[in-house]
Amino acid sequence: MATMITEECINCGACEPECPNTAIYAGGAQYELNGQMFDALSNDFYYIVPEKCTECVGHFNQEQCAAVCPVDCCVPDPNRTETEDALLAKAKSIHPDKQFAPLSAENSRFRK
Ligand code: SF4
Ligand code: SF4
Repeated sequence: MATMITEECINCGACEPECPNTAIYAGGAQYELNGQMFDALSNDFYYIVPEKCTECVGHFNQEQCAAVCPVDCCVPDPNRTETEDALLAKAKSIHPDKQFAPLSAENSRFRK
């Protein structure tokens, strides 16, 4: 389940630098995926690229964007349910050179 940003976003920018997968972009900003640039998914609010969001699995045990968002508008996208395994596989494909620790309560919200 990728995380999504709702229209409650106040464009504070706090979430963007916290994402371990560079999945968050400012409204109107093009995003990068697999070396290619694509048009913004939102022109009005910060947005998350679902193909790059792992719900922080592999890195942290909580969605870092949600942890810092002052208005709690980083929420699970009900239309994008993904298993922990699928999210870890995504993290590995985004960071091919990184050695991921085995999933535990430290790096997966599924294990907390
Ligand atoms: S849940 Fe984690 S990986 Fe997904 S956008 Fe937020 S900070 Fe990035
Ligand atoms: S932290 Fe929340 S309010 Fe601030 S830009 Fe990110 S989603 Fe929007």
